[in-house]
Amino acid sequence: MGGKKYGFATRSVHVGNEIDKHTGAIRSPITMANSYVLPYDPSDMNWSAAEGNIYTRNGGANQRQLQEKIASLEGGEDCVVLATGVAALSGVFFTFLKSGDHAVFGDNTYIAAYRLLNELLPQKYGVETTMADTSDIEALKAAVRPNTKLIHIETPGNPTLKVTDIRAAVKVAHDAGALLSIDNTFASPFITRPAELGADLTVESLTKYINGHGDAMGGAVIGKKEHIDRIRAEAMVNLGGSISPFNAWIIARGAATLPLRMRQHSESALKVARFLKARPSVRFVAYPGLEDHPGHSIAKGQMENGCGGVLSFGLKADHDTHNRFVSHLKLIISAVSLGHDETLIVFLGENDERMHLFPKDFNGGFYRLSVGLEDAEDIIDDLRQAFELTGL
Ligand SMILES: *Cc1c(COP(=O)(O)O)cnc(C)c1O
Repeated sequence: MGGKKYGFATRSVHVGNEIDKHTGAIRSPITMANSYVLPYDPSDMNWSAAEGNIYTRNGGANQRQLQEKIASLEGGEDCVVLATGVAALSGVFFTFLKSGDHAVFGDNTYIAAYRLLNELLPQKYGVETTMADTSDIEALKAAVRPNTKLIHIETPGNPTLKVTDIRAAVKVAHDAGALLSIDNTFASPFITRPAELGADLTVESLTKYINGHGDAMGGAVIGKKEHIDRIRAEAMVNLGGSISPFNAWIIARGAATLPLRMRQHSESALKVARFLKARPSVRFVAYPGLEDHPGHSIAKGQMENGCGGVLSFGLKADHDTHNRFVSHLKLIISAVSLGHDETLIVFLGENDERMHLFPKDFNGGFYRLSVGLEDAEDIIDDLRQAFELTGL
């Protein structure tokens, strides 16, 4: 069931779901247990093993079912699921980098990746790192050193929506003898499958589109078994970043509808982006699905079924007006996170220490909008009435 024989939607529904042998229930039950019964003679047990059922930190039924589903959807050999997307990012960085190694990372990564690679690993663990604009492949190449072991990219990047050419970044990494890891959270495997484009490690925040309903946190890393086994041993069993069986079950349920949801998110986001673009008080709209986005043609070559549901935009407005605009929204909720069923907006960046790294348009503050699954017309109407009430 996990292989290529069936289409993406079929695998989203079926892979990892099992008929329960004990009851005949057609849905896998949630196995909420910390430990599993030991064999008659446990003296040869490896208490750090991630195979077999011993202790839930080392893996359990629901975690493995979710791993199987995600590995299949990503077209990867293996997958490990962890407690959060950041546990997955740190699982990659701490497993594959050691003192004296060098890593290159994008200047448009998720804030925790920036903290880990710009501050924690260099300051406490002697890892050298260089930040680069990975949307410019020459800049990425120039950042590589003889001791570069890992290149980490994120595309489309959070929150700038900058696009990096995955195939070109893979080539730069492999020419340097380094691994290429990519945060694929904004696209999800329905839109981009980095493993099929040569990426060694794909990171997903399951909290976002793969779960899709804003009610559970999780993360995943997808790659070759030899790499995933190392993350499992280090980041899961020994550092303890395990996901709970309950969250794994919730995420597997959400993932069954990933293709339907992503199609709708992408279609509605493009409509919202076009609406915003036509509004005179809007300074800029960043969405790779718009023809004039600088990454549009690269996005078309590595994103299928649309460009996802997240966009950023800026207004011709001062600090107070920015907040007033949000206060007039009736349907759209002011909250962080993205990839939920409901539309979310967050005002960002006025005082962001990374502002100098963002494209110039982003200066002076901007919104990140995660377009949800409501009727696109209702989302647009909500924005329109808030513009009018704010006098924009
Ligand atoms: C949210 C997010 C993460 C972190 O995931 P958590 O599940 O919140 O830990 C990582 N990368 C991207 C692109 C994200 O949007």
